Amino acid sequence: MGKKRKTKTETTSTGVSSTPFTDALRAGEGFVLADVDQRSTPQFDGDKAAGKEALAAADDELDDLQERLYAESRAGGTRRVLLVIQGMDTSGKGGIMRHVVGSVDPQGVDLTAFKAPTAEERSHPFLWRIRKALPGPGMIGVFDRSHYEDVLVVRVHDLVPPAQWKRRYATINDFEQGLVEDGVTLVKVMLHISPEEQKERLQERLDRPDKHWKYNPGDLDERAHWDAYQEAYQAVFDRCSTAHAPWFVVPADRKWYARLAVQQLLLEHLRGLDLQWPSADFDVEGEKKRLATL
Ligand code: AMP
Ligand code: MG
Repeated sequence: MGKKRKTKTETTSTGVSSTPFTDALRAGEGFVLADVDQRSTPQFDGDKAAGKEALAAADDELDDLQERLYAESRAGGTRRVLLVIQGMDTSGKGGIMRHVVGSVDPQGVDLTAFKAPTAEERSHPFLWRIRKALPGPGMIGVFDRSHYEDVLVVRVHDLVPPAQWKRRYATINDFEQGLVEDGVTLVKVMLHISPEEQKERLQERLDRPDKHWKYNPGDLDERAHWDAYQEAYQAVFDRCSTAHAPWFVVPADRKWYARLAVQQLLLEHLRGLDLQWPSADFDVEGEKKRLATL
């Protein structure tokens, strides 16, 4: 309260849209995952130090926009944001949670990590647990993995019959269309690492006792299915990168870049909402006078 923040939000309410990361990273028509260089840093010229600086420099604006979104909901607004993060094991999903999402007021963020479904979850349609985790008005929801696992790991291992997972792309598109109509801004991001980088990250987890807790022998079994996963991701972009809810593919071999890019994607989408502080629903001048006499 009474906290003064410098914000760049005003400069974008002029009607000029500036969406460089959104434009550069969108998986549009004809997108080919295999053509993406995982070490590249689209829309950013600087090095790691400059990238970290840029990340820190945008914190205040992200905070400001989140607060505006929340304020709007207190005044009856129903808009919300849903950031979906997908990626192979070790692609840096956890780092996004700590370094990008972690800088936002925790009261405005609703984070859900999706693991292999429980027996109860498996007894329901695959979107059941997803619907339960959707952000409420004014919130920034974040999914660490998501309903897309139901056409990724499930497809790679045929955890349900192929006829069943094949229907899910259309089901997901309908579901997401409904969300958008309901005031949800979806930001779907794949962190794209190379198999060489994954090998290094797994090696590090093995070499460092402080990282053993992150190591899961099952990750090696998944690694053996690398190509099948890339194919499954390509199918996701072919089928579910829609006009209302496009996918963004972030080169993620450089962790600092991936964090910056996800932050910028989130910022660009929040700016696009043109969030205004709600006007007071009380007599401001009258209240000032009243306060002066008390
Ligand atoms: P982690 O993100 O490392 O904690 O691992 C979570 C695990 O849960 C991954 O191996 C995912 O593939 C798995 N998982 C998440 N959602 C599903 C799902 N719908 N069906 C099967 N496995 C899933
Ligand atoms: Mg894991």
